[in-house]
Amino acid sequence: MINEILTGWKNFITRPEVTEKTAQHRAALCAACPNAKSGKLLAFIKDDLTEIQGNYCNVCKCPLSAKVRSNDICPINKW
Ligand code: SF4
Repeated sequence: MINEILTGWKNFITRPEVTEKTAQHRAALCAACPNAKSGKLLAFIKDDLTEIQGNYCNVCKCPLSAKVRSNDICPINKW
């Protein structure tokens, strides 16, 4: 899982177009999910996907800005 999240952070920085389209779709699902929680340490990371900015997944504990841009999967199969 750590490799997927590192790839997600790389994509967060480089923003490949295809990944961003996927990330937008995933972010909408995460934003509506009760497992998306606000993380104090993530608050300083600005994201174009404002609906998940500063949030992490409370199931896998991954930062959502990286997770939605990774090759990882949603732990409860929402995406
Ligand atoms: S990754 Fe899945 S479980 Fe986690 S916040 Fe997003 S939709 Fe919810």
